[in-house]
Amino acid sequence: YTKEEGRNNVHVYDPKMNEKTADELSLEASLLEALADDQLEVYYQLQVDVDLNRPFGVEALIRWNHPDRGILSPAVFLPLAEEIGILADLDEWVLNRALMQGQTWYEQGYQNLVISVNISREFFKRRDFIERVNQALTQSGLDPSRLCLEVTENTAILHVEEIRNKLIALKERGIRVSLDDFGTGYSSLSQLNLFPIDTLKIDQSFVRKTSKENDAIIKLIIALAKSLGVSVICEGVETEEQLTLIRNEGCFQAQGYLFSKPVPFDKCEKMMHELNH
Ligand code: C2E
Ligand code: MG
Ligand code: MG
Ligand code: MG
Repeated sequence: YTKEEGRNNVHVYDPKMNEKTADELSLEASLLEALADDQLEVYYQLQVDVDLNRPFGVEALIRWNHPDRGILSPAVFLPLAEEIGILADLDEWVLNRALMQGQTWYEQGYQNLVISVNISREFFKRRDFIERVNQALTQSGLDPSRLCLEVTENTAILHVEEIRNKLIALKERGIRVSLDDFGTGYSSLSQLNLFPIDTLKIDQSFVRKTSKENDAIIKLIIALAKSLGVSVICEGVETEEQLTLIRNEGCFQAQGYLFSKPVPFDKCEKMMHELNH
């Protein structure tokens, strides 16, 4: 897609279409410009070692600072990005930006901080995916061991061999990989063994709603992580009660509103500074 084609899409507008479709069309067209016009932003959410109450990492999360609508969340525009074929470009943009900012933090003394970046299936499956990741690392100067790529279970179960080869290539480079939203996808336990991953991220749905079933699932994932020899992060921790629960089950890394919402770079830096002093 060129910018020109993006503009032309606006003329597809048909008054018979319902409001929402027109709305989506106009968002789609402006999304093409957002990438070029510097309207995208990376927010960061702390990942916390709950025993030390210290951040060990941050997750980079894309935001669209829309000129008329303000900050838009990825749930609104990532599906559109996928439809118009630019999701991988957005991921790559976030990767580059997050690595640059990660390098800034590294130079400020946050040398153990790991920057996690979400990778869509579209990006992951590109033939030149590994080269592009390498390029982003080289350009930023950040050490590969400071980067973690988050892929969802459903990305990981496509074309097992291809995925596996790419994961091995990342691993050889010293890059970490975590399985995002774990427990909600369709991976089988036997496949899990084939993938050189570092971390399971327990999906927030299991933490959000307290129930016997969810409790059991959390327990199960923690036990699974232990037996696979990988670490485990619990997503979506909002309350002290939830924190106590996951601690009791043996999970000591967490991410959630209890610690921080995703915030812009400067604000995240301030929070890290306060937590470290
Ligand atoms: P995710 O990767 O699972 O990221 C965690 C999401 O949960 C974030 O939503 C975060 O704000 C939210 N969250 C974290 N803690 C809490 C909590 O305690 N309570 C609640 N209610 N929510 C919490 P966000 O930023 O809206 O992102 C949503 C999803 O969009 C992400 O889920 C990820 O799948 C996708 N995404 C975000 N940025 C990117 C990106 O750069 N590339 C790709 N491919 N996907 C992205
Ligand atoms: Mg994620
Ligand atoms: Mg997740
Ligand atoms: Mg998610």
